[in-house]
Amino acid sequence: VLRVSGLVKRYGPDTVLDGIDLEVAEHEVVVLIGASGSGKSTLLRCVNLQEEIDDGQILLEGEDVSDPRVDADLVRRRMGVVFQAFNLFPHLCVLDNVALAPRVVHGRPREEAERTALALLDRVGLADRASAYPDRLSGGQQQRVAIVRALAYDPRLLLLDEITSALDPELVGEVLTLVRELAGQGRTILMATHEMGFARRIADRVCFLDAGRLLESGPPEQLFTEPAHARTQQFLARIV
Ligand code: ATP
Ligand code: MG
Repeated sequence: VLRVSGLVKRYGPDTVLDGIDLEVAEHEVVVLIGASGSGKSTLLRCVNLQEEIDDGQILLEGEDVSDPRVDADLVRRRMGVVFQAFNLFPHLCVLDNVALAPRVVHGRPREEAERTALALLDRVGLADRASAYPDRLSGGQQQRVAIVRALAYDPRLLLLDEITSALDPELVGEVLTLVRELAGQGRTILMATHEMGFARRIADRVCFLDAGRLLESGPPEQLFTEPAHARTQQFLARIV
């Protein structure tokens, strides 16, 4: 679904991504780990075409979406994105948050968009909160709505960046359970997380980023138990 090659991103004199090669196959769950500042969020933003890249190529379903001539808005509609926090429109109720994009972006009739939105909310146990405003939901509920909203586009690729890091520990579980279900349903997911236990359980492949380079990647059992690089060993030793 996604193939990133030789991706370079600089901010002024700083090279933040230094030649990243990464592939995400259909139905695959790829988890990015690495120290703060290693470039995980920047990589996700580049893939979502929120950043101009300095070198390399991004192929989405075989199409070169890093070509400056492509319509970035159209490409973004093929991806669902959820970031750390503040994902929901505060002035819209839960149902409208989820139904907005299918209606406005994809031109679906209101009734159909709302029916789909309700069905999605029902699947995550939040149908009864459809008319509530985001500030009346717990952080975990808000993130579940944000994920459902990303799904309302029926995206080919889900990009999730630290979606639990702003949550109280007791709310983390419900969000991770939802991501697990999506993975089980065969969604294609590229996510950054500091939740190593979760990465280990959910990932098909874990990628370790270090100072803008993808140092190593492999199945979680391999990467967590016998990392090839000293840097990976240090990182894992520090966090567990
Ligand atoms: P964290 O785990 O803390 O979320 P990260 O791996 O997501 O970290 P990034 O946010 O991708 O790291 O940041 C990578 C580097 O790029 C950092 O050194 C950061 O300071 C720098 N950076 C990120 N965004 C910008 C920006 N808009 N302008 C300048 N530098 C930036
Ligand atoms: Mg980040």
